[in-house]
Amino acid sequence: MIRVTAVHPSSIAAEIGLQPGTELVAVDGRELEDFLDWEFLTAEERFSLLVRQPDGEEIEFDIERPFEEPLGVTLEPPRVRRCANRCDFCFVDGLPQGLREGLYIRDDDYRLSFRYGHFVTMTNLKQWDIDRIIEYRLSPLYLSVHATDPVLRRYVLRNPLAPDIVPLMRHFADNGIRFHTQVVMSPGVNDGKVLERTLADLYAFGDAVGGCSVVPVGLTEYSKHHLVREPTANECRDAITTIDARAAIAQQERGVNWAYGADELYNRAGIELPPESAYGAFDQIENGVGAVRYLQRQVREDAGALRGWEGRRIGIVTGTAMAPLMPMVSETLLRESGATFEVIAVENTLFGRSVTCAGLLPGAAIREALMGRNDLDLALIPGEALNDDGLFMDSMAYRTLADAVPVEVRPSKHFSDAMQEPVAA
Ligand code: SF4
Repeated sequence: MIRVTAVHPSSIAAEIGLQPGTELVAVDGRELEDFLDWEFLTAEERFSLLVRQPDGEEIEFDIERPFEEPLGVTLEPPRVRRCANRCDFCFVDGLPQGLREGLYIRDDDYRLSFRYGHFVTMTNLKQWDIDRIIEYRLSPLYLSVHATDPVLRRYVLRNPLAPDIVPLMRHFADNGIRFHTQVVMSPGVNDGKVLERTLADLYAFGDAVGGCSVVPVGLTEYSKHHLVREPTANECRDAITTIDARAAIAQQERGVNWAYGADELYNRAGIELPPESAYGAFDQIENGVGAVRYLQRQVREDAGALRGWEGRRIGIVTGTAMAPLMPMVSETLLRESGATFEVIAVENTLFGRSVTCAGLLPGAAIREALMGRNDLDLALIPGEALNDDGLFMDSMAYRTLADAVPVEVRPSKHFSDAMQEPVAA
């Protein structure tokens, strides 16, 4: 059963009398569990719909509508599937106390993997879920493999019940499901020979695995440092050597790199990022894989259209990881827009200095960095540091920040998205 939270005016749902609070019970006799059932089972032009109205009355409708005309209901958000693991490097364990409740949820939900590209471990699947993924063709899925060796994977996930991932992936692959995969690399645990084997095993899946990225473990001040540590520069360099070896084979055999290192891996290794062409379709951009090269490309493509910025002074707020790389991007902006740019590297005061990415910057640290900066005409802040409700990790609202500092602030993911309109003279 799924509850309706809103009915759109002039929609089919409004016409047949659905209301906020109506429960959608079954389509063509099949009970509805969540939004996936709703979307897939109502994809036909004709179907029967059993509902329970807020007063308890059950009604069955025969729905016939033009193909793809939406029914016009908003559904209550799904109850997120919780994670069954306890990884030593879990980001949730690295959170300080007192943040908003939603941040402490360990989700591991294949529905969100399909819809939003969240990585899942698939350690909480029941047979019903497996059948459903195949029936609805939920593909591609984003899978945290970490290690294909089943014993080691259970150790990394701290889950003795985690299923052997290779046969499970094989079952999915045989039924047309594809994956993008990642390894979160924990030094001394799943790097070295283990990483070589993991990449080889995943590569052997052929088309069913679109690629594998290797992301170094990232810890905050609050993480379980007695159990896990971040890799050294040498360990990151070794991992890049392993990735390169696999990428060379993949280039020769498949014409793509297939194995990728996260930007952070190169950053820590002190090695220059691979060229833009190495990242193919940028399938794992959200995972920090190729993010800098993608940004460079985006800026190159958009910057020519920027007008009205001549002589302006723009601050680019970013994390300490991205700051040294930012000139690679801002040079193009400078040339095309005529503005001058200053990179403002901000340390993470919420999670500690070791957390260097822009997306986790708290509003308070940005506010501190921009106080007194009335010499700037505009400050661009990392758009990925805000959630859909306009809140930073420390729950400061974007508007609160904007009202507190003496410079106009705009969230931005690739500069040109925030530079279409010049600031007022
Ligand atoms: S899979 Fe591991 S890292 Fe992800 S939420 Fe669960 S415990 Fe945390």
